[in-house]
Amino acid sequence: MKYLGIDPEKIKIGSFDFTCCEGCQLQLANKEDTLVDFLNLLEVVNFREISSYRGEDYDIALIEGAISRQDEVERLKRIREQAKVLVALGTCACFGGVNQIKNKFEIEDVVREVYGDDPVETLPVRKISDVVKVDLEIPGCPVSKEEVEKIVVDLVTGAEINFPKYPVCVECRRKVNTCVFDLGLLCLGPITRAGCGAVCTSGKTACIGCRGPAEEANYEEFRQVLKEHGFTPREARERIDFYGGLPEMVIDES
Ligand code: SF4
Ligand code: SF4
Ligand code: SF4
Repeated sequence: MKYLGIDPEKIKIGSFDFTCCEGCQLQLANKEDTLVDFLNLLEVVNFREISSYRGEDYDIALIEGAISRQDEVERLKRIREQAKVLVALGTCACFGGVNQIKNKFEIEDVVREVYGDDPVETLPVRKISDVVKVDLEIPGCPVSKEEVEKIVVDLVTGAEINFPKYPVCVECRRKVNTCVFDLGLLCLGPITRAGCGAVCTSGKTACIGCRGPAEEANYEEFRQVLKEHGFTPREARERIDFYGGLPEMVIDES
């Protein structure tokens, strides 16, 4: 049986990093208890955290990071030509991530501020789907290794891939966590897509929206909660803009 044009028994995978911290690839490489089983399903032909072999005959390409240089644009297009399925891996790849904050400033000012008299070539940051066609997006900063492994197994076996439509609050409530709004923190859990197991709020840290928008989010209710807890639209805006994945119109500052 084929899935997205790939013969599951011969699936070959490559993983490639662009502008990012490589934390998402490390998540996969570090999962020692399931790494061997995971790799038994696949033939890794290009994944520098796992192997020194550099093959160019991959079926699935995992793309980590955003695009911020011209040479990255060209490299990404070459990978797209080879890959049957191209997956944007992590928040940087799906939304631009923390990198896209620089787009809020003049690029010349950013280069001068960071590099002084020794400037480097840099472009405004783009997410992967702004440059090439993306078949699947797996957000998270970093990605959830359990989720990525499950999705790759689904690709290999031809199973349907499903992401939660509900927000992080649902997972958080299931864990009977204390709501961090009651601890004085601004949490984006009500509007952010679940799937991480509410890992941040379970540690009494606010969700900062790394997984992007939840389909079933109730924005009106979220605005009301912000108001009740005394947060200004500006505070909410700064938090929402951090990863670049949430809709800009969530907060009306007027
Ligand atoms: S999404 Fe987060 S962990 Fe992954 S590469 Fe980007 S900054 Fe690093
Ligand atoms: S801590 Fe955040 S995710 Fe958890 S219930 Fe409160 S608002 Fe929702
Ligand atoms: S709680 Fe929010 S910020 Fe933390 S991992 Fe989940 S989606 Fe990302």
